[in-house]
Amino acid sequence: MGSCLSIVDDAVNDFLDQQSRYYKESKNAKDYATAAAKNTNENNAESSHLTAVLKSELSPIYPSLPKAAKKFHCRNVYDGDTLTLDNGDRVRLVGIDTPELKEKQPFAVEAKEYTKKYCHGKDIWLTFDQGDESNNKDHYGRLLAFVWVNLEGKNAKGHSNAQWLCINEGLVASGLANAYSPSNTKKVHNYDKMLGLQKIARNHKSGQWRAYQDEQVIITPSGSAFHKCKDVGSIITDCKHLSRSKNLKLIPASEAYDKGLHPCRNCMS
Ligand SMILES: [Zn+2]
Repeated sequence: MGSCLSIVDDAVNDFLDQQSRYYKESKNAKDYATAAAKNTNENNAESSHLTAVLKSELSPIYPSLPKAAKKFHCRNVYDGDTLTLDNGDRVRLVGIDTPELKEKQPFAVEAKEYTKKYCHGKDIWLTFDQGDESNNKDHYGRLLAFVWVNLEGKNAKGHSNAQWLCINEGLVASGLANAYSPSNTKKVHNYDKMLGLQKIARNHKSGQWRAYQDEQVIITPSGSAFHKCKDVGSIITDCKHLSRSKNLKLIPASEAYDKGLHPCRNCMS
């Protein structure tokens, strides 16, 4: 265990550096004014949060690569969850959703910075949920993949102690991506882990969760999204996706996230 700790510490420091930068560069400074007053305490909480995550079974850092991983080279990072390979193929990180750059959503820039830092101009490794490149493409022709990068480390004796970061999980752990499933029947194999990481990031107000406040939202019996209440806490909605839905139910948004539902792109963005 001792030999792992230095790399875990480095990774924690790395995460922390980014967290403090997000904080300083945040475009939503006003929203975070309250949090600023508690800055020191928060950083301590953040540190213990990340240390706990990195040492737990929920760590996005692994001692080895999955056997099926294939090596590629990343030419460019487009945003937090999309990149281009040297061969021109585009990759969409599967199982997650990062804030949209073109809609100027909070933490979209930070999510891109995260992926760019680890991937841009570097060797990366891809794995697929099931099968290979041929059956893991979305309707834009993008490869749906998990992206892995090598974190060089040294153990106590100075020997190389390589570790592998799963970028998809790292983004969720840092509060820079939501766990995302396009439907209730097509979930990635590690979706429960993604939800666990998301819950921890939310509870510790990391990244995009910094200003998060729980609210009542509307769900349907089988939908994969949750929707905004027209009036606070009411079951009334004007979302076009719910115009013919029955058996609507109110639940806290935190519970909806933990069930693996995602915010409706029509009414919750
Ligand atoms: Zn909606």
